Amino acid sequence: MSDDCIFCSIISGDIPGRVVAETDDALAFLDANPLAPGHALVVPKAHTERLADLGADESRAVFDLVHDLVPDVEAAVDADGLNVGINDGEAAGQEVPHVHVHLVPRFESDGGSPIHAVAG
Ligand code: IMP
Repeated sequence: MSDDCIFCSIISGDIPGRVVAETDDALAFLDANPLAPGHALVVPKAHTERLADLGADESRAVFDLVHDLVPDVEAAVDADGLNVGINDGEAAGQEVPHVHVHLVPRFESDGGSPIHAVAG
């Protein structure tokens, strides 16, 4: 837990988050500035800034939850696909220094363009 981390505050319940799923070691909640309806973030509960710093158990917890949520998020907003991505490091567009995986629903009407930086 990091005192000045917004995602740690959501995990601890100090600030409200629109939580969509939770396991012992990972949490999923809706992005406050969604790129599309249903845009969700999956985070490890332990404060970890960069992907390479995640322990094996935390990594498994995050990606297991991502894997479980992909069909649920897609179905919830009747999407046709998803972009699943991580901005890892400031140079890659990471604004919140707590590892998070973006699940961004995509629709046929989007035209199929790839997203290079997931947000921001
Ligand atoms: P990044 O650019 O990959 O670090 O993405 C950070 C994401 O966190 C952005 O998509 C923001 O909209 C999102 N975000 C920032 N603050 C909050 C919050 O308090 N709740 C939910 N999402 C947030």
